[in-house]
Amino acid sequence: MIAYICYEKTPAGKIQLLNSQGHGVLADTLAVKAGPNGGYEVQGKGGLPEVCQHLLLPVKGSMNTSLKLQVLAVETLINPSGAWKASCQGPDVKEFSLRRLDVSCDECHVASQLEFVEYSQHQQEDAVAALQMQGWLASSQKQICPSCIKKKTALDD
Ligand SMILES: [Zn+2]
Repeated sequence: MIAYICYEKTPAGKIQLLNSQGHGVLADTLAVKAGPNGGYEVQGKGGLPEVCQHLLLPVKGSMNTSLKLQVLAVETLINPSGAWKASCQGPDVKEFSLRRLDVSCDECHVASQLEFVEYSQHQQEDAVAALQMQGWLASSQKQICPSCIKKKTALDD
């Protein structure tokens, strides 16, 4: 599941086509259908995804969370022009919960609000995984924010 989540904002109604550098080209969303076993059929307009590329779709109601789908097959559509249909692999879950977490850094004590996806029965582990994906040095005992990590690395140099 965690492989299919990206803590990055995708504007509503858009699809980000991620290139190998992790930058996104925005396409318009025409349709998204979730099928069995984590299969998704995504129709968009603009750009053209390639097999093995990742697509980001906004998670409804989120601040900065996207679903990250892997493209398995692509075909271009005749109508409307510039449209395409991609078969993708995504999370095989019907529902997951989007939660917000108030966290403060153990070094600089600055408080932040982070979003995380709860998908297992272990809310704390899901929160720690989300912190790590958002650049924190995190365990259940200790949390250090990305800017403190940067400061430390700068001092070490
Ligand atoms: Zn800090």
